[in-house]
Amino acid sequence: MKDFPSPDDFIALFRNFEKQQIKVYALPNEVVQAKYACQLLTPNESTTGLVLADESLLPVVLASLPEGVTKVNITMGYSVKYSATYTFIRQLFKLIQQLRFVQNDTWIPRSSWMELLYHPFLMEYKELRQQIDYLLDKKSTYQLYLSLNKSSLFKSDSPIEQRLYSFLKNSDRLNYINHLLELLRFFEMEWIQKEILSINQELELQVVRKLFNALSKFYELLQSNEIEINDNRLLWRLIHQIIQRQKIDLYGEPLEGLQIMGLMESRLIDFDKVLVLSLNESVIPGDKFMPTFILHSLRSFFGMPIPERREAIDAYHFYRLLQRSQQSFLFYSQFIGADEVDKSSYVRQLLYNPDIQVQEVFIHDKITKSDRVEPIIIDKKTIGEDWQKLINEFNGMLLSHAALVSYIQCPLKYYFERVKHLTDAKLFPDDEIEAKMGDFFHEAIKKLFKNYDIIEPQHLDDIKKNISTVVDNLISNNFDLTWMQVLLMKEQLKSWLYKFIDIEKAEISHFPAKIIVLEQELNTKIKISEKKLLLFGRADLIIERDDAIYIIDFKTGLEKDVSFDKIEDLFKQNAKLVYAFQLAFYGYLYRVNRKSEKPLYLENIYIKKYDTPFKKILSKLELKQDDKGKTKTSYEQLNFDENIVAEFETCLKDKINELLDENIPFTQTTDNKNCEYCNFNLICKKN
Ligand code: SF4
Repeated sequence: MKDFPSPDDFIALFRNFEKQQIKVYALPNEVVQAKYACQLLTPNESTTGLVLADESLLPVVLASLPEGVTKVNITMGYSVKYSATYTFIRQLFKLIQQLRFVQNDTWIPRSSWMELLYHPFLMEYKELRQQIDYLLDKKSTYQLYLSLNKSSLFKSDSPIEQRLYSFLKNSDRLNYINHLLELLRFFEMEWIQKEILSINQELELQVVRKLFNALSKFYELLQSNEIEINDNRLLWRLIHQIIQRQKIDLYGEPLEGLQIMGLMESRLIDFDKVLVLSLNESVIPGDKFMPTFILHSLRSFFGMPIPERREAIDAYHFYRLLQRSQQSFLFYSQFIGADEVDKSSYVRQLLYNPDIQVQEVFIHDKITKSDRVEPIIIDKKTIGEDWQKLINEFNGMLLSHAALVSYIQCPLKYYFERVKHLTDAKLFPDDEIEAKMGDFFHEAIKKLFKNYDIIEPQHLDDIKKNISTVVDNLISNNFDLTWMQVLLMKEQLKSWLYKFIDIEKAEISHFPAKIIVLEQELNTKIKISEKKLLLFGRADLIIERDDAIYIIDFKTGLEKDVSFDKIEDLFKQNAKLVYAFQLAFYGYLYRVNRKSEKPLYLENIYIKKYDTPFKKILSKLELKQDDKGKTKTSYEQLNFDENIVAEFETCLKDKINELLDENIPFTQTTDNKNCEYCNFNLICKKN
């Protein structure tokens, strides 16, 4: 200090803490924190410092800068793993791990391909956005895998598409790196040609260059040493390790514009106004773990670096920054990801110090973690053309069991599906496979039973022998499914069918029985408010036995209760009674136009857990008298006779009238169980 004294005009501000007003902001999460902090910036202040304790926030901060802030200097080490270039490469390698090479063709998984197309680097290209539109179009054929050679999607020869397809057509690991380098070079050239680049794009440009150099060296190393990598996952792990280590050092001109920097880079720089982000305990001081074999006490004794020293350095930088500034704005998040986190102990120290004026501001009221969302209510009168179209369609419109269930359980879901025709079910291939398995089971039963008018118990052995052939023919080797899926589905389907027949061969069985209906539509016309409707549903199996007629609906999903108290309960929002409503609706469709002396029972067969026939028969709460004359209630199997049909029809008409009533809006369900697997949960955010 003696050798390097302060300049004569240097004014030391030693008790500046007491003079300034420090504001501490608590915000719901890191992104909101960055956006809120940027609102406090005014254009081109060179004496303002924005200090990022967590460097990963840099892209969010750059994207949130107010329009007037044009001069920005970034001085910090920025890890490439936080960049969009990294996510692009990661998605590419995820995709190639899922590619299939069959018959000289490359098959691309649809969902991962769409995920890649949504990447900000690719969304810039019109031709790739058109691909997304095509893939989302309801009229396009749904396939889990897209053929690179045959699909019309991949016929365009725009430069970006050509580079992407060359990358995907490879099977040589070394060439993957080469084509990746070409892609990086392509992005670099594209961006250089742009007249104006946003600050974020400039940052990505540097990342692309950095990675290009690092991966080129890796490529040369593999090439010169003739190292072969035979596994895509290993290749990705190596590339990932290289990327993880890359940092770009961003140096700026400290005399002009807004200064953005890390905490370390702020040493020896004074600002009039300073904003420090991510002041959370897990970030600063954070985990100062040091991987070492030397005991802490020995390190301490011999004056070697210890965690406390690192904490002390952070503390010094933090307090020095505040000490030298006129205005300090400090920010911390209450959540990082899904985890609740605490404010930094440095902030606590400030709050508990009686000599320093610190104001803590909580911003929850204005910006919340998006868990409290206003309910969605759609007024039928405001949807104009769509509503008129729907009303007009009701003149002779078909109303299926699925549409009715949708309306009863959640009028808003009905609006999304039937009025706006929204559906994103195709984005969830697992649901598709589950639905396919159900279809295959129904189809297999139809084929196995079709040659019999009456099935006697002795026929069941012959039916069982046919199962393997029927299933093999049914699930063909088309490329909607991978060969592994085909194999698994065949085995699964066969085991369900064998189990079903084995159970039916026991003493208690549905057979002998006459087959009345096999996979067939049931329908009836109904007139409501001068509008004619055709109600319909598809029955899996209707059999006539000596004792009664049974309508059987096969289910491949989880079991649901089919007992209920009153018919009107079937028309209330209650996800548990969806299957009960379906059976009752089929009972209504069958019985309303047919007279029969025999009782009509309705049954679900849960094929995955099938162990006893007649176990899940639609049942209703009844009053009964026991032997001693006492009245008791119990659920009794429901004979769907004329009285029940009349009662059901009254409730059904009321419900359809409600649907047609312009004054009753489409509202969200009151039973949250309906939302658990609803495709529209992303829009509703009900749970
Ligand atoms: S998420 Fe829930 S409220 Fe929204 S449409 Fe689906 S079922 Fe209805």
